[in-house]
Amino acid sequence: MVQTAQIKERSSTGTQRLVLSGISKSFSVQGKQLEALSDINLEVLGGEFLSLVGPSGCGKSTLLNIIAGLEQPTKGSAIEDGAPIVGPGQNRMMMFQESALFPWLDVFGNVMFGLKLRKELSQKERIERAHSFIALVGLERFTHANIHELSGGMKQRVALARALAPNPRLLLMDEPFAALDAMTREQLYADIQEICQRQKKTTILVTHNIREAVCLGDRVLLISGSPGVIKAEFQIDLPRPRDISSVELARQATEITKALKSTDKETRSVK
Ligand code: ADP
Ligand code: MG
Repeated sequence: MVQTAQIKERSSTGTQRLVLSGISKSFSVQGKQLEALSDINLEVLGGEFLSLVGPSGCGKSTLLNIIAGLEQPTKGSAIEDGAPIVGPGQNRMMMFQESALFPWLDVFGNVMFGLKLRKELSQKERIERAHSFIALVGLERFTHANIHELSGGMKQRVALARALAPNPRLLLMDEPFAALDAMTREQLYADIQEICQRQKKTTILVTHNIREAVCLGDRVLLISGSPGVIKAEFQIDLPRPRDISSVELARQATEITKALKSTDKETRSVK
């Protein structure tokens, strides 16, 4: 792992895909202002895989929703490829914990639905693209299966194909593996690493699973507190493909867990 100063140096040489400056977000809850995030500054490079970890309620989903354009920040700006994020768009696709697929459409229909966003493609191109992304996630045999016939892991594969098929610049994932069993998760870690590397996709993953964050991320950002702030960042230079059970990965995850525990203690003693 390297220090923040080195990361800054690295980011100044890469292409910045996403720049968040001074982002704060408050919600009005029963007439009171609840501050969910405070002064978030962040740059994500093109092709980078960034993991956001932190305890429940620290504002991870809120931050991802701001990047997706589903929420507007109270303060600060979010710029993607030079343009302010003002709403959802085909360049930023989101994948959720529950696969949020349409149960009345089959696998093919769900992937085609995402492709409706790509107005410039002909219907023939959309069909070809849908088939190729269904193959990419290994579900060719289930192209015309109903959603309720699929396992949890298969549903998440469909959700991944649906999110990737329109070729977004940013793939946003909010705890996409949380509802899956350990074996299915491990298989998906391997597949997602391969797919994201092959597609050079800029990806932001939100998780509260630190090992998962280290397994997938080029960089792990630790968010904690209420309001949530970025407490630390860790560069993960382990070779890929990474195995979640490897000793070195566990060592780095332990280091991040320790940092999380100490920031958590700090937060509580301030309150
Ligand atoms: P995380 O994803 O890290 O668990 P969230 O981003 O969901 O955290 O929530 C951060 C804080 O903001 C929590 O206290 C939550 O209750 C609050 N919050 C999130 N969304 C809303 C909303 N739409 N209205 C009111 N409060 C919200
Ligand atoms: Mg959340």
